[in-house]
Amino acid sequence: MSDVVKQKEIICVICPNSCTVTVKQLKSGELVMEGQGCKRGEQYSRDEFLDPKRTLATTVRIRNAFIPLLPVRTSVPVPKNKLNEILDVLARIEVKAPIKCGDVILENVLGLSSNIIATRSLDVDLCYKIACEFHG
Ligand code: SF4
Repeated sequence: MSDVVKQKEIICVICPNSCTVTVKQLKSGELVMEGQGCKRGEQYSRDEFLDPKRTLATTVRIRNAFIPLLPVRTSVPVPKNKLNEILDVLARIEVKAPIKCGDVILENVLGLSSNIIATRSLDVDLCYKIACEFHG
């Protein structure tokens, strides 16, 4: 009988070789790998098998800017299985111009030690400025 309790094929994205790494987890918990071309790919495949993480890039609503959405991303990669929860949180957020690229929009999202940061600057829209001055 096989000692393998879980098996996954992972494409390593660290370099253009794109090695296909087969990761097998044995009953003992030990991981056995085949197909990796180097140590970095071995570490990548291990992390991807045990705790896959991603950098999330999306948008949040912004008021008073010349476009309605501000591009943002997580400051560090977050667990892949938390991406939808983070998107739900961000869907309820609205910020106000002006925003500078790199500004923290939300600290420590879901307690994951990752901030949500702006990836572009957006100034107050000129039309909004003029309207404010006109209406006092
Ligand atoms: S395993 Fe090594 S050689 Fe293969 S794609 Fe990953 S980094 Fe490149």
